[in-house]
Amino acid sequence: MIPGALRRFRSWNNSRNASLILMYHRIDDPPIDPWNLCVTPANFAGQMEWLDQSGLACPLAAVRGNAGKIAVTFDDGYADNLYSAKPVLAKEGIPATVFVVIGAVGTNGFWWDELEQILLHSPSLPASGLTLQIDGDQIRCQLDEQDLRFTPERLAESKAWIAWRDSPPTTRHSTFRALWEKLRELPHEVRARHLATIREWANSADQRTKFRPMNADELVSLAAGGLVEIGAHTVTHSRLSALSPEQQQQEVSQSRRWLIDHTGQAVRSFSFPFGGASDYSAATVDWVRSAGYARACTTAGHAVNPSSDPYQLPRIHVPNLPADQFSAWISQQFEPGSSAQTP
Ligand SMILES: [Zn+2]
Repeated sequence: MIPGALRRFRSWNNSRNASLILMYHRIDDPPIDPWNLCVTPANFAGQMEWLDQSGLACPLAAVRGNAGKIAVTFDDGYADNLYSAKPVLAKEGIPATVFVVIGAVGTNGFWWDELEQILLHSPSLPASGLTLQIDGDQIRCQLDEQDLRFTPERLAESKAWIAWRDSPPTTRHSTFRALWEKLRELPHEVRARHLATIREWANSADQRTKFRPMNADELVSLAAGGLVEIGAHTVTHSRLSALSPEQQQQEVSQSRRWLIDHTGQAVRSFSFPFGGASDYSAATVDWVRSAGYARACTTAGHAVNPSSDPYQLPRIHVPNLPADQFSAWISQQFEPGSSAQTP
C-alpha cells in the first residue's frame, strides 16, 4: 500500500534529501488535552502501522544524512510510553527515542499536569482569590462565580481548547494559562514553592496516577530489547535559557550520567525542554556537545536535511490523527516552507 501522499513525498524528497523527526509526548485519550500532547492508542497504532508499511522508519541516530526517513521520538518519559507505545513499536518494529526528565522519574507527575488538575479538574475551587508574588510581578487568581464549581460535563464543553492557540473560555482556563506562562520561567525549587501555595489554596491533594512518569524499573523495561533508545531531557524540565550557566550545565550533564547509571546503556541523544529557539542558547548547545551527546533535538517544526545542525535537529509535533489523515499530513510536512505549529 503506497498512498498517493507517500508517492508525492518520495518524489519531492528525492530532490531535497529531507527526513522527518516526529515528536510525541503521550499515548492516551484524556477528557481534555490543553497542550495537544496526546495521540490516542488507536490513532498511534494506525500511525505506526502506516510507518511500518511505508518502509521509512529509521532510528534517530541515522535520520540526518539519510534521505527520506522518519524517526520517532517521545518527550518527558510518561509511563504510557512503556505501556501503550512500546507494544505497538515492538509489533511494527519501529525504533524510537524517549527523552526522559530524570527528576520526574518515580514521581506523581509534572508540574503542568498538576496545574491542569487543580485549575481545570477540581470540582470546586475557593471564591477567595489568591495573589502570588512571582519575580516581582503580582499574579492574581480570581475565578468568576460561575466557574467555582466545575462538573465533568462543563469541562467537556472545552474539550477542543488548545492553550497556546485558543482564547480561554472560562476564568479557570485563563488562570491556568497565566500561571503556566509564569511558572515555566522559574527555577525548579521556586516553581515547586508556588505550586505548593496554589495546591493549598485549592485544597487539592495530588493523587494523580494516570499522568505519571515512569519509575526507575519501568525505565529499564522500556530500554530493554534495543528498540527504544533512552535520551536525556534534563533533570527538572526547566527552560534552560532562564537558568544560570552552572545550572544549565548541571541539567545537561547530570541527566546523562543518571540515565547511564540506571539503564546501563550509552546516552547519546538530548532534547531541549520546550525546545523553541528562545528556550536555550548557543552556550547551551556547546554544553550539550561537550557533555558527550552526539545529537540534540528542538521543537522547530520542519524537516531535517543534510545541513541541519546535529545539535539542533528540528522535530514535528504529531497531531492526533487516524492513519489515512496521518499519511496526508506526513506528506505536507515535506512541502517546502511547511512549518508545523508546536506548543
Ligand atoms: Zn518536554
